[in-house]
Amino acid sequence: MEQLWAPSHPVLGGTILPSLRHHCVVGSHHPLSWRSILQTYGRKENQIRSWSARCSGNYDGASVSVEINAQKKLTLPDNSLLDSHIIYCTSPALGHHKEAHPESNKRVPAIVDALDKLELSPKHRGSQVLEIQNFEPASVYDVARVHSRSYITGLEKAMSRASDEGLILIEGTGPTYATETTFKESLLSAGAGITLVDSVVTASKLGPNPPLGFALVRPPGHHAVPEGPMGFCVFGNIAVAARYAQHQHGLKRVMIIDFDVHHGNGTCDAFYDDPDIFFLSTHQLGSYPGTGKIHQVGQGDGEGTTLNLPLPGGAGDYAMRCAFDEVIAPSAQRFKPDIILVSAGYDAHALDPLAGLQFTTGTFYMLSSGIKQLAKELCGGRCIFFLEGGYNLQTLSSSVADTFRAFLDEPSLAAQFDDPAMLFEEPTRKIKEAIENAKSIHSLVAGWTLPGGLDKSGRTSPNCGAGKCTASWSPALVQPRQMLLRDVEEKTVKSICLASSLQSLVVSLCSFISHLDASSFQPYLALSYLCVLL
Ligand SMILES: [Zn+2]
Repeated sequence: MEQLWAPSHPVLGGTILPSLRHHCVVGSHHPLSWRSILQTYGRKENQIRSWSARCSGNYDGASVSVEINAQKKLTLPDNSLLDSHIIYCTSPALGHHKEAHPESNKRVPAIVDALDKLELSPKHRGSQVLEIQNFEPASVYDVARVHSRSYITGLEKAMSRASDEGLILIEGTGPTYATETTFKESLLSAGAGITLVDSVVTASKLGPNPPLGFALVRPPGHHAVPEGPMGFCVFGNIAVAARYAQHQHGLKRVMIIDFDVHHGNGTCDAFYDDPDIFFLSTHQLGSYPGTGKIHQVGQGDGEGTTLNLPLPGGAGDYAMRCAFDEVIAPSAQRFKPDIILVSAGYDAHALDPLAGLQFTTGTFYMLSSGIKQLAKELCGGRCIFFLEGGYNLQTLSSSVADTFRAFLDEPSLAAQFDDPAMLFEEPTRKIKEAIENAKSIHSLVAGWTLPGGLDKSGRTSPNCGAGKCTASWSPALVQPRQMLLRDVEEKTVKSICLASSLQSLVVSLCSFISHLDASSFQPYLALSYLCVLL
């Protein structure tokens, strides 16, 4: 195994040591220590108020009209933008492929096929649904707003070696690979997001209901850190688009919602000290890459504009309805973004092979519909989704199709795809505990209600908004901050650290094995599940 370019953390020895160090909460991506964790929970009230002030935008609805740079020439004429409800770009990256790897080049074609079969494609929808074709790749300058020049040029130079060797594995990245087309195809995927930013922002100036954008692209981006690739991701597509929206269109405040089952550590890192970008991630507690702890809230000027909500294994539709009502919507309403970007990973689906949450097609419909409403209410409808994870081709494509239906204000067809028999009881106590912790840390007040969704019996689950979640809480959960501090100190941090370390060890060992034999993903997955359960 040869190292191509500098990883985001020093290599201490082979694959295992840096991975262990990275995944353990104490030595995780951000410079947290036991002391700083405890200090976070002991934060004085005036500091909390300071966060609230920083996270509260003074939206005047006019920032979009402040253009810093000249408008680029758009691929679509203005009248097409006015008529459309959805615009999307595809970048399937067919040449970026490794046999038996879950992040395969079949993913985007599977989605495109499903959209066509389910009559959601431009062929069936005319001007309602538009695909932007022949869009430009991102420039190195665009990507360099997020990633280091040394990483970008290092990847470009590695392409000639990939051409000779066919495929290069990148040490300590999750496992991430590169082929001779990876550089060009990754620039194209980042370019899709930039093109959609141009189109959506332009449309928002032409009328009150701009189309929603969807970048159906790969390789995904939310794990890629500023200094390198990670976790199947090469360039941070959503991070590049966020910076582009600020620099090209003068959109000051960007909200990024990441509902992939894994923490979007790359996006988080890129904006950890930026008060103008609010990064909110829901993800499975203890899953790859081990970052995204609830007490990681940003630093410096950006303290309070990062919100991590790790959910326990088995969390599903109920959990996300609660999370949306009580955390996502209030955060957005307080931050008042100029645009909402979404890291739309579909690997939290109950049937996805890479994690252990229990989202359904209906959960993704609910999230898409809710985020669309938030964008309409808060930022003139400017909203773009970016494909991240999702490795069961069937559930991935049917869930993206239901996202399209949500964008079109059409009823969900989730009942055709979701089988209640695949679900088991959600760990409601742990879910409520996590949500209450996030609300407490970020001083959030619930105020949003969405219709109920599917529960494990196939019945509609109850609403969670407007305090309904908290109404059934155990009194023991309503406790002063000092109690939370003790709880975190004695239970959560230690158990998370232990689980992360065990999982990291398994991931590292299996990553090492998979480099010897590419077909050895299954034992890796089985052992990962085991560690998540632990
Ligand atoms: Zn993921």
